[in-house]
Amino acid sequence: MKFTGKNVLVTGSSRGIGAEVAKVLASFGLKVWINYRSGAEAAENVKKEIESAGGEAAVIGFDVTDEEAFVAGIKAIVDSDGALSYLVNNAGITNDKLAMRMKLEDFTKVIDANLTSCFIGCKEAVKTMSKKKFGAVVNIASIVGEMGNPGQTNYSASKGGVIAMSKSFAKEGSARNIRFNTITPGFIATEMTDKLKDEVKEEYYKNIPLARFGEPKEVAEAVAFLLSDHSSYITGETLKVNGGLLM
Ligand code: NAP
Repeated sequence: MKFTGKNVLVTGSSRGIGAEVAKVLASFGLKVWINYRSGAEAAENVKKEIESAGGEAAVIGFDVTDEEAFVAGIKAIVDSDGALSYLVNNAGITNDKLAMRMKLEDFTKVIDANLTSCFIGCKEAVKTMSKKKFGAVVNIASIVGEMGNPGQTNYSASKGGVIAMSKSFAKEGSARNIRFNTITPGFIATEMTDKLKDEVKEEYYKNIPLARFGEPKEVAEAVAFLLSDHSSYITGETLKVNGGLLM
């Protein structure tokens, strides 16, 4: 896959989908900045794996909900590499319970982690990428942001917000040659979905036309396409990677 840019920051890439995104993008020749909040060792392991496969990576730890730390993180990358070409806003959390039992802080914590963090990242991306008049951002939302899910009013609101916000950023970024796209994964096999009981998983499989959960790599390859030169006329798009669960 062809990339005009040279480097990428992938938030929350110490494990799960983000780690796979980091590995796939490194395999295409990008220098990958691996971000984590608490999993420093896991992030170092992703870096080692990339390097042993011949790729280039660096680790940068910060909490994406901390604006000052996120801004400083992007500045450190620009100071090191001269620019930031690509950003993948992937870090995210869940905190599921029925709305009637959900405290306001359970709601706002998920909004902060998934939506506000994405705003901070997109805003800083526009600021720094504008200087080179080049860049692309992929935001990881969720199928739940498109169709809702019981127990996930907080999560669905955050991810629906990411989908809508990305389109506004796409409109603002277009004059500066910065593209913004969103991926809405369905159920992907990571620690986030490992929490589900086997019988719940079996029920989900019945409704998924491809009859299985997706692999992180299947999301990562879609991310690579949306950052690459092969999608140069695509912005403001929402790409479903869900095995057909929602068409
Ligand atoms: P995961 O396995 O739980 O990994 C989450 C990653 O995000 C970890 O690297 C974690 O780092 C990091 N993270 C969380 N909060 C952070 C913060 N405040 N600052 C910096 N990093 C933070 O999750 P996943 O399943 O790979 O999901 C990745 C993204 O895909 C999320 O946005 C999720 O909502 C979305 N998604 C997942 C699925 C799915 O089925 N798995 C489906 C749809 C959408 P630490 O370990 O250091 O905390």
